[in-house]
Amino acid sequence: MTKYIGAHVSASGGVENAPLNAHNIGATAFALFTKNQRQWIAPPLSAKNIELFKERCFEYGYTADMILPHDSYLINLGNPNNDALAKSRESFNEEMLRCSQLGLKLLNFHPGSTLKLISIDECIALIAESINIALDKTEGVTAVIENTAGQGSNIGFAFEHLAAIIDKIEDKSRVGVCIDTCHAVAAGYDLISEDGYNKCWKDFDEIVGFKYLRGMHLNDAKKGIGSRVDRHDSLGLGVIGKELFSRLMKDVRMDNIPLILETPNEEIWADEIAWLKSEAGE
Ligand SMILES: [Zn+2]
Ligand SMILES: [Zn+2]
Repeated sequence: MTKYIGAHVSASGGVENAPLNAHNIGATAFALFTKNQRQWIAPPLSAKNIELFKERCFEYGYTADMILPHDSYLINLGNPNNDALAKSRESFNEEMLRCSQLGLKLLNFHPGSTLKLISIDECIALIAESINIALDKTEGVTAVIENTAGQGSNIGFAFEHLAAIIDKIEDKSRVGVCIDTCHAVAAGYDLISEDGYNKCWKDFDEIVGFKYLRGMHLNDAKKGIGSRVDRHDSLGLGVIGKELFSRLMKDVRMDNIPLILETPNEEIWADEIAWLKSEAGE
């Protein structure tokens, strides 16, 4: 069994710096933004960026299964406003293309927000349509929907939302989910106790299905169960505590998928990764 463990590392100065930054903290997986996550427009990836990125991934032993790119925070694939939706879709298609240019197989994103203008079901329909369009226009990249904390008007906080989106996707071989532990707890799932852990994953399997689990974000949470507040904490320093992460490292259902820290203190990522590896027996 293998656990792929890493963090969402910086790609500043070029995507080719991400595998280097991941290697420097002892990571066996990593996440990155393939463009500035706070801007709509980005220059296309150059042949040099692409070549160096691939070279370094090979050099440090990262395959596409270990890498979980994240899209821009500006994108809302369920935006009720037509023009804004079109802009989001265009940007998302572009991100899918960048991933395929880099030889990557996954793109992780937050499903979308109703902006309190439409119902959750209407938002889910728009999101599914957006994903279908993106999958039509690209090849080889799986759309990986992340569960959310349910902050503001964000949807995707209930496993049922993820399942409802997947249900509407035409090519189910290219859709998956990423479960963020902080978001799950904020959304009301008790992942803290052992009973809660077992029940949560049983529900997940029944509602979504483990075959769709393509990655995880490992974050402790600053606020308690059901807070609906998206505030990450370092492992063991928040309300979740270290036991959940220890359990995950021993759970074979999380083998061979990227397990990514988005914890706030980058200075201790190397230590967090080393601890997770030791819990996994690696
Ligand atoms: Zn996350
Ligand atoms: Zn978050």
